[in-house]
Amino acid sequence: MTHTLFPTGRALWSATTQTLAPHAKWMSGVVAALILGTGGGALALVNLGPDVDQVPVQQVLETVQLPTAIAEMALPAQTLTLYRSDVTRNTDTADTLLARLGVFDPQAAQFLRQDALARQHLLGRSGRSLTIQSLGNQLLDKLTARWSNDDSGQFKRLVIERTNEGFISRLETAALEASTRLASGTITSSLYAATDEVGLPDSVANQLAEIFSGDIDFRRSLRKGDRFNVVYEVLQGDGEPLRTGRVLSAEFVNAGKTFQAMWFQPPADAPGSATQRGGYYTLDGQSLRRAFLSSPVQFSRVSSGFAMRFHPVLKSWRRHLGTDFAAPTGTPARTVGDGMVTFAGVQNGFGNVVFIKHRNNTETVYAHLSRILVRRGQNVGQGDTIGLVGSTGWATGPHLHFEVRVNGVQHDPLALARNSESVPVSAAALPIFRQLAANVQSELQAAASVQTSRFE
Ligand SMILES: [Zn+2]
Repeated sequence: MTHTLFPTGRALWSATTQTLAPHAKWMSGVVAALILGTGGGALALVNLGPDVDQVPVQQVLETVQLPTAIAEMALPAQTLTLYRSDVTRNTDTADTLLARLGVFDPQAAQFLRQDALARQHLLGRSGRSLTIQSLGNQLLDKLTARWSNDDSGQFKRLVIERTNEGFISRLETAALEASTRLASGTITSSLYAATDEVGLPDSVANQLAEIFSGDIDFRRSLRKGDRFNVVYEVLQGDGEPLRTGRVLSAEFVNAGKTFQAMWFQPPADAPGSATQRGGYYTLDGQSLRRAFLSSPVQFSRVSSGFAMRFHPVLKSWRRHLGTDFAAPTGTPARTVGDGMVTFAGVQNGFGNVVFIKHRNNTETVYAHLSRILVRRGQNVGQGDTIGLVGSTGWATGPHLHFEVRVNGVQHDPLALARNSESVPVSAAALPIFRQLAANVQSELQAAASVQTSRFE
């Protein structure tokens, strides 16, 4: 019989197993305590050896609900099944991985070293969710690794299991399940400092910056005290979070002004839906997708923390028009709107530069590129990578020199983005949209309360 003593024992095991590895005696100590216990009263912890004062015994006694029946059961140590979860590291070897999980099983280690699936998908891979099932004697019973590397909506599951004939391994594919999470935060120094503070993944921070980029200049105008509430998806495999999904709705208060957004995809059967992609909308149904993006460099932890180094070289540039976006060499530079490449090559001062012509006599310029990835005459779509940031031409530090010209006159990129047309939700989809928007409003309120409860 395999008796699962701690059915919800993951937290308990996590809390205690750290001390288990160097104190092998301790496990038999707890087992002894359970057997000695008399159901109603306090457990007698006796003869546990010199290490007993170093282990968090108190946690165990508080967590385990001890049925009276256990006191009468002669429970050998081997029937305990213990669970632990962790994450793979790229430095993992068979031995270090098992040791970190509190398993000391040379036969299992040998299997991991030799098995093709384990070698390919487990050892030396980082960030894969691991759960382990171990017998009380610290032998491996079952190891499961889960990961999802693409947007297929599925995840991979590698199972390594003990059988009577030895260990076996198998690789499976299963569907991810989306769950919704709420979070909120307050800006004290930067967006990423605020999202770190509340444990939000970078991909959520990046999405927030992207969603509101038409209204908020995340590089220059964030203020201390700005706030955000966000509802986002986490994609899970077997209940383990494997990927951060899409931001479903968000609210950002910048300098006292509130901006709200929700993801909306018209249902497939709605008239005209074939032409309507999903996108972000204000809660009254205006698309946040504009004809022009406000920034040719996607906001990210790296680019946001990258300081602009002004150099005497720039002073010799008689009139410095345009906007400089500091970013490391190699950062993708993207076209801010649909258009056609009218120049892709080298010019004095600009170095490697791309000119793109858009509708309404609008032209954009991307200079100092380390690499150009488009050709003259090529059609490009909004967001396409047209080159990589560099420091060619009259620039000593890597940055993207960006210009917007309307009828040959310089324009502010953010103003261009704000003033460019946006597409409202179609009349056919509006009733569904309104229903969803009402829910979003209450979800965002719930998200706002997440932080409050954290500090209560
Ligand atoms: Zn410049």
